[in-house]
Amino acid sequence: MDFDAKIPDGPIEDKWTGHLESIRLVGPRNRPKYKVIVVGSGLSGGASAASLAAMGYNVHCFCFQDSPRRAHSIAAQGGINAAKNYRNDGDSVFRLFMDTQKGGDYRAREANVYRLAECSAGIIDQAVAQGVPFAREYGGMLANRSFGGVLVQRTFYCRGETGQQLLLGANSSLAEQIRNGNVQMHTRSEMMDLVVVDGRARGIVYRDLITGEVRSESADAVVLATGGYCNVYFLSTNAKGCNVTAIWRAYKRGAAMANPNFVQIHPTCIPASGDHQAKLTLMSESLRNDGRIWVPKNQDDQRLPSDIPEDERYYYLEERYPRFGNLVPRDVAARNAKDVCDSGMGVGSTGYGVYLDFRDAIRDQGQKVVNAKYANLFEMYERITADDPRQTPMRIYPAPHYTMGGLWVDYNLMTTIPGLFAVGEANFSDHGANRLGASSLMQCLADGYFVLPATIGNYLSRHPSGEIKSDDQRFKEVENEVRDGLLKLMSIKGKRSASSLHRQLGKLMIDHCGISRNQEGLEQAIGKIPQMKEEFWNNLSVPGSDDQVNQSLEHAGRLSDFYDFAELMCRDALHRDESCGCHFREEHQTAEGEALRNDEKFANVSAWQYRGDNREAELYQEPLEFEAAPLAQRNYKT
Ligand SMILES: Cc1cc2nc3c(=O)[nH]c(=O)nc-3n(C[C@H](O)[C@H](O)[C@H](O)COP(=O)(O)OP(=O)(O)OC[C@H]3O[C@@H](n4cnc5c(N)ncnc54)[C@H](O)[C@@H]3O)c2cc1C
Repeated sequence: MDFDAKIPDGPIEDKWTGHLESIRLVGPRNRPKYKVIVVGSGLSGGASAASLAAMGYNVHCFCFQDSPRRAHSIAAQGGINAAKNYRNDGDSVFRLFMDTQKGGDYRAREANVYRLAECSAGIIDQAVAQGVPFAREYGGMLANRSFGGVLVQRTFYCRGETGQQLLLGANSSLAEQIRNGNVQMHTRSEMMDLVVVDGRARGIVYRDLITGEVRSESADAVVLATGGYCNVYFLSTNAKGCNVTAIWRAYKRGAAMANPNFVQIHPTCIPASGDHQAKLTLMSESLRNDGRIWVPKNQDDQRLPSDIPEDERYYYLEERYPRFGNLVPRDVAARNAKDVCDSGMGVGSTGYGVYLDFRDAIRDQGQKVVNAKYANLFEMYERITADDPRQTPMRIYPAPHYTMGGLWVDYNLMTTIPGLFAVGEANFSDHGANRLGASSLMQCLADGYFVLPATIGNYLSRHPSGEIKSDDQRFKEVENEVRDGLLKLMSIKGKRSASSLHRQLGKLMIDHCGISRNQEGLEQAIGKIPQMKEEFWNNLSVPGSDDQVNQSLEHAGRLSDFYDFAELMCRDALHRDESCGCHFREEHQTAEGEALRNDEKFANVSAWQYRGDNREAELYQEPLEFEAAPLAQRNYKT
């Protein structure tokens, strides 16, 4: 397996431009001869498909929703980072790079992170050109706010619906390419497997979710833009359809999986209120610009928040991290919320909640100003909880939100399977052990608008186009395997729904591989997952049939992959015997309870390689180098 990250030589600030000038190109007249499959139509997939088609490639784009516009990216709320320095507060490409590296606790590749910061400003220009209605100052200048882990204001936003507006922008470009015949859009189509021929990715097998038919599409390259796998926890802030299937099945065909245990547990979500819930709701991090987080100083204090006097409130982030206050990075905020709740200071019926309070912001800025920034988030909160956050503080608690792990990719975003690329949340590339807020949209669009369109040509130009078709025997073989897998799920005819089995797996994962982990818990989880998997394969019930719309069957297929993936996550977390970013191993903490890295042993990327269903995956460790941003202990206190 080729683990060469292909990082260009030279100083960090010249790597990307030097690479662009030296990589091979496909000429405009040859591009239509190359067919590229893009699986996913969220921000990374939509931007990739639109950009590749605009360059002239023949693109086929797949998604399981009924419209590309309904990809999960539409849920993104708070904003997108870019080093424009519009606020003149000292921002720069280098500072964005440094913040991201430090935020990720030095577990990301420097060269990729620097390129991300470099591309960031162009994304805003592109989005503005598409008509994305970013918030503006009175004079017309684009407005900015702060997100956690930074001391500048570099986050561009469209109130609390930035993802939706950016997706409308990307989709307007995609729609134009569909209309011009350069993109063939396959909605309600789920990729079930990858077809690798002679060591190269040559297409996919997919299921038509309306008719149940299993079909193939061949191509010269395949791009996976299939998002994150947070739903391994069952309860998360992600859309219900988010899953690991596409990247997991690519893994089983030879693509290495990197840092699967790196999962972001977001500090500000509406707490779970019981066992009936199927989903959790995010309250955007942008709220921490003005909202103050606190708990009662007294344990088990049952008074209304308004009855608790100022000197009996514990503004724990402001006290523990005076320099960053409520805007510490997510991993730090989440751990501290758990800590105060574990100490008995939590609020709400379960005791696992903290207050996010807008009283002071409304007093200082006025209701109108605060409303202008957050009204839709306030309304969303009120609709769910029946409490108006303008009158009473929000109650929040951490929940699984984003996955930094994903398919291993080199600097060109190519996986270990030649011709298979991964972009957006589906790859592992830019956020290390913790993603800073507003950095995912930036990565999705950097990958889709700027990086992939340049690097894919470097691969395609080395291969003749189109010499394989989907009626090839090798496609038929994979199709048959997929059909057999579906029949197996249908034929179990047990008693338990995919939802009930999934909830059980999710509970195990959040308890043992969630906000904090330890050796004993991880070993327990690794022992229990195979038993849960056995229960699934013996007692699953899938109603209906496989030749019609069948969401239970879709769920069951995705869950079958989550079992194996969950086990790999736990093995990865067990192997990484250090704390870093979101990966908090209780055995490794500083005297002040912060994550304690072991750079000597773990300043690397864990990349796992599949070796068969009954064998443990093999681990390769890609060493990370720190030239531009030397390793340092993260400090958000002083
Ligand atoms: C509530 C919420 C708020 C957020 N707010 C922000 C924010 O303010 N700023 C920020 O930077 N980030 C934010 N994020 C994170 C960000 O939204 C996501 O990381 C990002 O949108 C992921 O985009 P993507 O293109 O990688 O994948 P997605 O948008 O998840 O798209 C995945 C696509 O893949 C398709 N797909 C998946 N599997 C298959 C398959 N097997 N076959 C066919 N198609 C498949 C889906 O149909 C879909 O089109 C937020 C996340 C959540 C949950």
